[in-house]
Amino acid sequence: MAATVVTVDRNVKAGVMPILRGHWVTLTAFFKSLFLGRSSTIQYPEENRPVSERYRGIHILTAREDGSPKCVACYMCATVCPAECIFIEAGERPEKTIEKYPTRFEIDLLRCVYCGFCVDACPEEAIIMSRENNLVGTSRADLVIDRDRLMARGELVEHGGGYRPDDHDVRRPVRIAALERLKQEHGIVPGMPEGRETPRS
Ligand code: SF4
Ligand code: SF4
Repeated sequence: MAATVVTVDRNVKAGVMPILRGHWVTLTAFFKSLFLGRSSTIQYPEENRPVSERYRGIHILTAREDGSPKCVACYMCATVCPAECIFIEAGERPEKTIEKYPTRFEIDLLRCVYCGFCVDACPEEAIIMSRENNLVGTSRADLVIDRDRLMARGELVEHGGGYRPDDHDVRRPVRIAALERLKQEHGIVPGMPEGRETPRS
């Protein structure tokens, strides 16, 4: 539903007319809701407002066909994350073409600013975002979301996928920044998967 933007002029002198206009708006909304069923509110949480396909909601870790994480534990997302809220520990995989996978992959959603840089930086499309942002928990630990919870997010079906990699040029500078930081801070120069674009400096 498109929102109506009203510009309010604060320099208007107080008087009877602004009060009458305010009542008119209130009464119009009231009668529309009462007789036409056109309410400005929604029955949250049963109903959610539709959001863009590029909405940056809570992350999803994508899986390979065998159900294992697509993530190769390259640390690009954790390196570029401005909130430093991604924690990864890598394990070895037997396949030479994959080599690594995350034994631990956590995102502290209380620190995340939903910028999407992790999605832009990922060379494997292993991390994407959903259109879901019902962030509820009874403790801080509830909102540090781990690998298995990130991979098993049923809300994806209900809300649809959000921001994910595309051919948009915005990804290139984010990935270059991540590679530069990996090189400067850790002396690591990760190899790019075959067939992927090679970052240029
Ligand atoms: S969306 Fe931004 S702040 Fe959140 S985990 Fe990704 S890079 Fe970090
Ligand atoms: S950038 Fe992608 S592949 Fe690399 S650690 Fe993050 S999610 Fe995994």
